Amino acid sequence: MLKKLTIFCVMFLLLFSIIGLAACNNGDELADYKTQAIESLEAYAKSKGQDNYTAENWETIKTIVENGKTTINTAESKEAVDTAKAEAMTAIMTIDEVTKKEKDVMYTLLESSNCCPPFEQSSSYWDNIAPSAVAYEEAIIYFTTATGEYTDDFGGVFVDENGLHNICVVGNRKPVISDYLIYKQVENSFNFLKSIFVGLESESQQFSVWQVSVCEVCNGVIICLESESKIPLLIEYLKTNSLFKKGTLNIFVGENQIVPN
Ligand SMILES: [Zn+2]
Repeated sequence: MLKKLTIFCVMFLLLFSIIGLAACNNGDELADYKTQAIESLEAYAKSKGQDNYTAENWETIKTIVENGKTTINTAESKEAVDTAKAEAMTAIMTIDEVTKKEKDVMYTLLESSNCCPPFEQSSSYWDNIAPSAVAYEEAIIYFTTATGEYTDDFGGVFVDENGLHNICVVGNRKPVISDYLIYKQVENSFNFLKSIFVGLESESQQFSVWQVSVCEVCNGVIICLESESKIPLLIEYLKTNSLFKKGTLNIFVGENQIVPN
């Protein structure tokens, strides 16, 4: 009788510990998943850099992170954790950076030019844009140097009609593979396009340049001039400074695009 009881007790204990262990494992796994999500959300917010925001906007970001953490902590599945993290990261992306003002000037696609007309959003655009943005934020780290510059194989980025980030690459590096990312091989690095932009901006008066912008869709630079007669001088300047590259410049005088030889 005692032996039977012992066996029963052992079995009971064994069974209990298995159930206990399984339950404990599931709980631990979700808890670990939540901890990782919170760490990655906090790291993402930190990577945005306090200096890039006004005090008010940085407070907003801190609030988004805190709310995101609360939502992650109360999530009951991994999917819910992913959603909460993606939503918080997307919300952070919408907060204006101070330096964005400078970028805006550079990124302005001229409405009057027909370099690359804006994309018509497809029906899947809004389903894809948030996960694509999250995947892009992961990938861009691999195209960023320790000093915060872009690597020389980064050729820019744009969001296409389906809400997918197209990362332009000189070469074929694909550091993050995701259904929500497209890698597009291009000729010019973003750093090169930016150097044309910077070079022309400082000489804008000399060449009657009223607007320069980088177009990441066609991997080129749009240059708008007031006077067509300045074009030879402009091209000479670019050649002298190793900034001239065929097929890279879209020069407009008024509405007319002039392709340099
Ligand atoms: Zn373009």
